[in-house]
Formats: sequence, structure tokens, C-alpha cells
Amino acid sequence: MNGYNPFTTGCHIIIADGLKGTDEQYVEINQEYVKTAKIGRAIMDADVIISLNHFKGHEGTGFGGAIKNIGMGCGSRAGKMEMHSSGKPNVIPENCRKCKQCIKICAHGAISYNEEGKAVIDHNKCVGCGRCIGICNFDAIKSPNDEAADILNKKMAEYALAVVKDKPQFHISLICDVSPNCDCHGENDAPIVPNIGMLASFDMVALDKACADLVNKQEVFENSYLAEQMKKGVHEKDLFHSNHPETNWESQIEHGEEIGLGTKEYELIEVK
Ligand code: SF4
Ligand code: SF4
Repeated sequence: MNGYNPFTTGCHIIIADGLKGTDEQYVEINQEYVKTAKIGRAIMDADVIISLNHFKGHEGTGFGGAIKNIGMGCGSRAGKMEMHSSGKPNVIPENCRKCKQCIKICAHGAISYNEEGKAVIDHNKCVGCGRCIGICNFDAIKSPNDEAADILNKKMAEYALAVVKDKPQFHISLICDVSPNCDCHGENDAPIVPNIGMLASFDMVALDKACADLVNKQEVFENSYLAEQMKKGVHEKDLFHSNHPETNWESQIEHGEEIGLGTKEYELIEVK
């Protein structure tokens, strides 16, 4: 749906946690929010991380850049659920077709069926592995996506640490077509600021901070989502806050620095 395939990208695509999102590796990090991260196995098989990301606004994390590409991008389905939610998945009864596939995948005996034959999840038994979400062909099982913005950002930084902690790493950010929302939206909107260019660094925290600072110096495009927000009177402390006032991008940077993922200090070296 988003064009993540070899025909649109011109290169091979590997879905790192497998076609069902269950091929993962546990990585112990013992951080404040994440003790054991669940990372797509193909990512952990890599010797070196070279990450190319699209820098844009984001409705949950303020912006999406290098930290998000690695932290959220490399988490398995269960890992993504752990970052996005404080709880466990729920069944949407209207979508449930009573196919009884989900009970086969749950290793914790958390799924049963009610009198109507629809699936029910017992949260006392559920461990939040997310496997049932992948097995349901009818979108009847959903993660609550209810984690507070700051905690989402902090978990994401901790996941990023799990991915790169023993590996050489290099990050490239493309600040072009800066959309108001995440690229996972099929229906994303027009850019909110002019294109800036390409930034690169061995330090993903410094890179994200530099990108955010550059975007914040831009003129906002007339008629963009962000301009509409500002016309409505949403004038927060910077463009990302005005774009999505309930978000707080600084917490991914601050926490990233606290846990040793990188530093927010940077020097811009222009390459012509
Ligand atoms: S797999 Fe989906 S549709 Fe089938 S019983 Fe489970 S929740 Fe319902
Ligand atoms: S998330 Fe995992 S443990 Fe919970 S109901 Fe689904 S398959 Fe079972």
C-alpha cells in the first residue's frame, strides 16, 4: 500500500521481522522502559547499520527521523506494539468473522470465544506478543496505540539503542517533502516547509537535532496542514509542536542522550 516493494524502490526489500511479523530476536538492554527489546531478526543479522530515512512531521513522536527509523523501524510487530501501547491488544467484535485462527497462534492461552463465537482476549494471560494481530486476516485485533507521547519517544530511543549497541552505524536523513504526518499513512498531506537537503552523521541523536533545528528555521508553506493549524490559532513553541501540539519531539533527543545513544551537540559541515 505504501510502495515498500522492489518495483517502486529499485532495490531488494526484506521484511526484517518476517511476513507475519513474528521473526524477532530478543535484545536485553535493561533500560528504564524497555528491559528486553524485540527486534526483527534480519536486522540483528546485519554486521553494520547504514540507515537512510525521510525526515518528516509525526502525529505521535513530533517528528520522524534517524532515531525513529532505527527504533520503531527495526522493532518487530511485538516490539512496535510495546513502544506504541501501554496495554495489550483488543478484539473489535464487529470485525471478527469467527474464523478461530487467532487461538492457534496464542502460546499463552489468552484467547477464547464468547457465546457469539467471537474472539475475546484475557489480559491477565496475554503477554502482549502481538502474534494474534498478524494472524487475523480481518483486522479484528488491534493494539491500543495509547502510550503517552513522551514514553513512546523514550521507548523508541531505547529500542534504537538495542539495535546499534554493538554495531558500527551511519545515518542519512533526507529533509525533503517534509510531510505533516508519518510515512505509514497512505493518505499523507503536502509538504509543510521547503526542501532542505541531505544530512548525515555517525550520531543519530545529533543528526535528528540538527534536522529539527533546520526545519524550525523554515517558512511554512501556505495552505499546508501546518499553515492551517497556525491559522486556527495553534502557535506552539516550534513548528513540530504547532503541527501536532500533543507531541514533544525533544523527549526522543533528551532520552537518547541520557541513555548514551548519542549527543545533541553538533557541528554542521556543509559539503558542496
Ligand atoms: S483471527 Fe480475527 S476474525 Fe478470526 S476469530 Fe480471531 S479475531 Fe476473529
Ligand atoms: S498478544 Fe500474544 S499473548 Fe496476547 S492474545 Fe495475542 S497472541 Fe496471545
